[in-house]
Amino acid sequence: MNHRVGIIGCGQLARMMAQEGQALGLEFAFIALGKENVTCVKGLGEIVRAGEAPDPAALYQALGSPEVITTEREDVPLDLLRALEDFCPVYPRPDAVAKTQHRLREKLSLLESGIPVAPFLPAGDAHEISRAIRYLGYPAFIKACESGYDGKNQWRIDSPAQLEKIRGEIGNLPCVVEKGVPFTREVSIIGVRSASGETRTYAMAENLHVNGTLLVSRAPVPQRDDEQLDTAHRYLETLLRDWDYVGVLAMECFVTASGVLVNELAPRVHNSGHWSLGGAATSQFANHLRAILDMPLGDTHCDRPAAMVNMLGIDTAPETPNEGVWVYGKSPRPGRKLGHVLLLDEVSARLDRRVEQLLAELYPERQTRLAASA
Ligand code: AMP
Repeated sequence: MNHRVGIIGCGQLARMMAQEGQALGLEFAFIALGKENVTCVKGLGEIVRAGEAPDPAALYQALGSPEVITTEREDVPLDLLRALEDFCPVYPRPDAVAKTQHRLREKLSLLESGIPVAPFLPAGDAHEISRAIRYLGYPAFIKACESGYDGKNQWRIDSPAQLEKIRGEIGNLPCVVEKGVPFTREVSIIGVRSASGETRTYAMAENLHVNGTLLVSRAPVPQRDDEQLDTAHRYLETLLRDWDYVGVLAMECFVTASGVLVNELAPRVHNSGHWSLGGAATSQFANHLRAILDMPLGDTHCDRPAAMVNMLGIDTAPETPNEGVWVYGKSPRPGRKLGHVLLLDEVSARLDRRVEQLLAELYPERQTRLAASA
C-alpha cells in the first residue's frame, strides 16, 4: 500500500512537496485553511477544506487516514496540529512550530541552545519600546511577536522622530525590539532530521531580499569563511537535536564582523532552499518527506554553484538560458511569488553574470546587483 501524507496548506511549498513525493510513490491529501486558494495543488491529491472549527476526527478521515501529517505553513493553528496528533504523527512537532510562531519564544529557545541572536529586549507598550531603543540605540527593529513575516508588522527605526511617527501603528502589540546589526550578508541553511534522528544539512545560501521579499538565493555562499560556515552548521544541528526536530528546518542568519547571528527560523521547507530542487542530489522537499516517514535521508550535496531567482509577479518562463523553471499556477498579482528559476554553473563568476542577466530580463526597471553585500 502506498504511503499517504497529509499536508496542511495548499501553496507552492505543498505543490513542490507533492510533486517530489510522487516520484517516491507517495499519495497526498491537503488541508485548505479558511478561504485559502488551492490552485497550486490541484490534481496532486485530495483537497479538504477545514472550516473555522474543524472536527479533527472527521478531518483525519476526510484526508484518507494519512500515515503522517505535515505543514507547509508557519501560521497553522496550533490547536489543530495538536488535535491531529491523536490520529497520527504530526511533523514538525507542534511544540517546535509553537516556538517559531512567536519571536520572543524563538529567541529565548535559541539562547537556551547557546545560539547567538542580535541584542534584543521584549516590549509591550510605547514606554517599553522607547526604553528598549534608548538602551539598544539606532537603528532598531521593532518586530511584533506574532504574525510578523515578510516585513509585515515590523518597523525599522532610525530616529526618535520616526519612532514618534509610527507609534500609533504599533499600539500595544507585544513585540521584540532588536538592535540593528551591521551585517555583511544574509544567509540561510536548510537542515533536515528524520524521526529516528538521522541529520543532514544543505550548503549555506546567500540571500538577497527586496522590500522584505526574497529575490535571489545563491548556494554555496561565494567567498565563504569556513569557520563561520562550520559554526552556523553546528547551530542548526544543535537545534535539530535539542528540539528533537523531525522534518526540514530553515535557519536565517546575519553574518557580521563578529560572527553569525541567527535571525529567524522556519519550521518547513523554505524559499531559500528551492535551489536544492535540481541543484542538490536530493531536494529539501524530498528529504522533508523522507524525514517525516522515517526513511533514510538523501544526499544533500550540491556539486556546482546554484542560484534560485524568484519570479515576483511574473508567471511566464524567461528566455534567458536556465536549468529549470517552476511556475506555481497561482493567479498573478504584482510582487507575488508566482514561480522560480534555477541556474547552475561550474564557474561561480559566470553564475553571477547569468543571474544578473536573468534579473535584467525579469525586472528591467530595477537596478538589482547580486553582490548585495559588496
Ligand atoms: P525578518 O522579518 O526578521 O526576516 O526581517 C526582515 C529583514 O529586515 C531582514 O531580512 C533584514 O534585512 C532586516 N533586519 C531584520 N532584523 C534586523 C536586525 N536586527 N539588524 C539589521 N537588519 C535587520
